[in-house]
Amino acid sequence: MGVRAGIVVTGTEVLTGRVRDLNGPWLAEELRRLGVDVGQVVVVGDRPDDLRTALEFLAAGNDLVITSGGLGPTADDLTAAVVAQVQGRAPRLDQALEQRIAAIVARLSARFGGVRHPEASAIATRKQAMVPDGADVLEPTGTAPGLVVPVAVGRVGPPVVVLPGPPWELQRMWPAALANAVVRKVIADVPELRQHTLRLWGVPESDLAATLRRLDSELAGLEITTCLRDGELEVVTRYPAEAEPGLWHLVDAVGADFPEQLFSADGAEVDELVARALSDRGWSVAVVEAATGGAVSARLTARSGQVVGGLVVTSITSITSVGSVGSVGAAGAVAMAERARAEFGADVGVGVTAVAEESVHLAVVTPTGERSRTVVAGGAVDMVRGRIGPAVLHLLREALTRSVRPG
Ligand code: ATP
Ligand code: MG
Repeated sequence: MGVRAGIVVTGTEVLTGRVRDLNGPWLAEELRRLGVDVGQVVVVGDRPDDLRTALEFLAAGNDLVITSGGLGPTADDLTAAVVAQVQGRAPRLDQALEQRIAAIVARLSARFGGVRHPEASAIATRKQAMVPDGADVLEPTGTAPGLVVPVAVGRVGPPVVVLPGPPWELQRMWPAALANAVVRKVIADVPELRQHTLRLWGVPESDLAATLRRLDSELAGLEITTCLRDGELEVVTRYPAEAEPGLWHLVDAVGADFPEQLFSADGAEVDELVARALSDRGWSVAVVEAATGGAVSARLTARSGQVVGGLVVTSITSITSVGSVGSVGAAGAVAMAERARAEFGADVGVGVTAVAEESVHLAVVTPTGERSRTVVAGGAVDMVRGRIGPAVLHLLREALTRSVRPG
């Protein structure tokens, strides 16, 4: 078994979902790239008992434990104290660190017109300068220092790396954590783990499962995870270098079983493929969309510089006037795509229409032909938009990367 790490993300705001956890996934990905196997990401609120329980749980099966958050000056920031206790090391004041933090705080507060409560500020600084005896300090990238805390002599357990909560601070501190001698010793000589991504459109997970079952013995050494999201099936494979032949078996078999549906064999996302195809051909694109609140234009403009304009319409009247047809069905979508081309002088037009019904009609018109599709997308507004975006992108991809035939 290789080197394993566990992560504890702290913060009641993260536990409740008020703030989305950016640190757990970011750390897990960084560790994976180093070849470290992350078995658990545990989220706990700002409660010492819960943090202690999580640390003890992760200590049991891991070579390294990493925490995020709870290093600030307020009372609910208690990570350093709890980690010190779990690792069996008494906190002591690091006076030199206290002065460095004070200098940072003074510099920051000067920007906001000076320190208003010097005593409170001094207490907060002192709290942040309490370092478990024998731990290494990671210099602050905000105001809070990080820590590397090995277990006390005579105890067994992994070292704990303590990092700040603000994602930007945590990411800036990460190189120093990796350079730390204690951490280096844990992750020295870990074999690199590689990652490869296949993307399919319109394949049920069960069909892919059948392919994987057939290959079974040829896939030894690969860790394959599949994820179905808005109609796209993502197949992520992690593998050590020596298992690479298995990966190529997988890629070949998936390509053979799903030649039409496998749209990306190198991890490229559909947005990127569409942007590339548009710029390769030098084609501009414009959109007329209804019932999406502009979601299609937003997604296209995020990745492609070829979008020249878009109209977002809401009511039946505005749709029919834009489409210049009496229908909001499939023919209406084509008419809207044509209207988008005409209105903005674009090479490619996209039309999206859905009104008071569960069927959303999509159309793409290019200089060489047109394609349309109907998708069923009932449900909450966000869900509908979540499904229409990918459906439009894939219709565009098909229109741009294959010979276009009518219909
Ligand atoms: P600071 O000294 O800046 O207070 P800290 O280590 O105490 O650092 P926290 O107080 O826990 O950090 O969090 C500070 C900010 O970072 C908050 O806005 C919080 O929502 C955000 N944050 C904390 N943890 C995460 C996380 N896992 N993902 C995203 N944001 C986070
Ligand atoms: Mg906090």
